[in-house]
Amino acid sequence: MKVDFKFKDVHNCEAVVLACIDFRFWKETMKFAEEELGIKSYDFPKLPGAAKSINDCLSEVDVAMKCIGVPCDLHHVEKIVIVNHADCGAYGGSSQFKGDLEAEQKFHEGELKRAKEKILAQYPGKEVILAYAKLVDGGESVEFLRVD
Ligand SMILES: [Zn+2]
Repeated sequence: MKVDFKFKDVHNCEAVVLACIDFRFWKETMKFAEEELGIKSYDFPKLPGAAKSINDCLSEVDVAMKCIGVPCDLHHVEKIVIVNHADCGAYGGSSQFKGDLEAEQKFHEGELKRAKEKILAQYPGKEVILAYAKLVDGGESVEFLRVD
């Protein structure tokens, strides 16, 4: 198989989007990044729990931190996007919250903010965008909520 390579001699991109590995959310996360955030070129690392992988890092040589570091240092990204999602198995799933969707959302917001602080300590001056992919409409839709 041979396909067009759209990035000949291009080494920079706009953003890094860190998402969870979960197959149920990553295509939707691309849609959010491209259509809602208007980001056209981005590195797209996926690690279990997204923010969790950053918060669990013990040093900047941990693989999760490198998923941010390589885009920053090599691809000169200006934006760092982190997306956590509802019912994330890396955190024990929704059942951890006994059906309290608000509590689950609050928890993920806290995780995202912690990850942001940790990243900014390493890469000050970058724009960090946080989002939570929430299941709505009785589980029929995913809604991406910005977390400030
Ligand atoms: Zn997950």
